[in-house]
Amino acid sequence: SLPVIYAITPTYTRPVQKAELTRLAHAFRQVPRFHWIVVEDSTARTDLVARFLARSGVPFTHLHVFTPRRFKRAGMPRATEQRNVALAWLRQHRSKRDSGVVFFADDDNTYSLELFDEMRSTRGVSIWPVGFVGGRAYERPLVSGGKVVGWYTGWRPDRPFATDMAGFAVNLQVILANPRAQFKRRGSQPGMQESDFLKQITKVTELEPKANNCSRVLVWHTRTEKPHLANEPKHRKDTVVIEV
Ligand code: UDP
Ligand code: MN
Repeated sequence: SLPVIYAITPTYTRPVQKAELTRLAHAFRQVPRFHWIVVEDSTARTDLVARFLARSGVPFTHLHVFTPRRFKRAGMPRATEQRNVALAWLRQHRSKRDSGVVFFADDDNTYSLELFDEMRSTRGVSIWPVGFVGGRAYERPLVSGGKVVGWYTGWRPDRPFATDMAGFAVNLQVILANPRAQFKRRGSQPGMQESDFLKQITKVTELEPKANNCSRVLVWHTRTEKPHLANEPKHRKDTVVIEV
């Protein structure tokens, strides 16, 4: 049977959260053999996300871990603790017998269904282009003879792995075989989360290029505009309480 795709989504409470998760669920519920690991950046699981997941039609695991306040500053990497909690869950609840592929799916990106067909065959670590990152329309691994030989990017081409969080997938057995591999806060520069993680589990020469030798964009690093809420009443004016 097909390996299960484990998509790890960190998420936090804000006005657009339910809208973002709705967009993701509409894609994910169409993907066979899919397991959504949603990790809330909160001190407890919220009712909004719990209710949402229960009705989403997507098999899921609902976790939470609160980012310490000192890590919530501009220029600091986001969702480090949430991704690590998801990796810990996989190591505790999955074993050598389970075949799967692990992928990091931020809640505001846009995912083509074709991306999941591509990543499903990941044997070690696979890689592909991502739209709207690196200060360019897209960033992509340069491929020659089926191997990654460099990076097309507008930002820090010296990065060992010049890719975004949405640009790679890892076979579940690689996650289990490297029990100490995780996302780092200490010593990690902004924008180096991906490289710091991938260094722990693979080499550039071992990467498996997907999306037609990295010539197609199947995921976009979209960002959602904050809604204007300046006219929200200070005290509830409506006659009903509505979850948005
Ligand atoms: N995130 C989080 N806590 C935060 C900020 C972000 O859990 O305080 C999550 C967010 O929901 C997303 C991921 O971390 O899934 C990346 O955040 P964001 O999309 O804001 O980062 P950017 O796209 O700007 O790099
Ligand atoms: Mn984002």
